[in-house]
Amino acid sequence: MFQLRKHFSLSSTLIYIFILSLIFSTSLSANQNKNKGIPTQEDQEFLNKIVENIGFEDEIVISVGPYYKAQKISLTNGVVLVINNKNFKAPSFLFFDRNVGIYYILIDYLFYKKFTIEEKKFVIAHEVGHAQNPNLRGSIVAEQKADEFALKYVSIETAIDFLEKYSEADEEDLKRQRIENLHKVKQG
Ligand SMILES: [Zn+2]
Repeated sequence: MFQLRKHFSLSSTLIYIFILSLIFSTSLSANQNKNKGIPTQEDQEFLNKIVENIGFEDEIVISVGPYYKAQKISLTNGVVLVINNKNFKAPSFLFFDRNVGIYYILIDYLFYKKFTIEEKKFVIAHEVGHAQNPNLRGSIVAEQKADEFALKYVSIETAIDFLEKYSEADEEDLKRQRIENLHKVKQG
């Protein structure tokens, strides 16, 4: 009987240690994710600065995830978007959630990891530029106006390099018109 009790308490101790280690490792990995911080505090501060400069009143949230060519996009607030266009390809885009009145700057994770600090600034500023002109969405002019807005925060070289590097192969024409517009803005 004594032996049995001893055995029993040893196994409960082991189970207890096992559960503790599970809890510990879970909270540890949560902390590590927090420290990695995607988007970074720097990204967030940059966005806050723009929002403050222009006095933008709606909330804007940066969300980074596996969004490129995705047909389902999970937002940080749990909303899931179903994308109808199968050719949906962009390193980043702006989504307005009408239900909650929040703009989301959605950045694909793999692109995000490649971006330099200046490129991230270009992406964030460009998307805020779209938020400022919601009625232009989906047109070349919309892209040009968003690029022009971004030029308040990044150099024209950064903007052009970005377009050269990250434009889709089937968007040569759009890329050319955007770069031409950037040159025009710089000259004018
Ligand atoms: Zn755009």
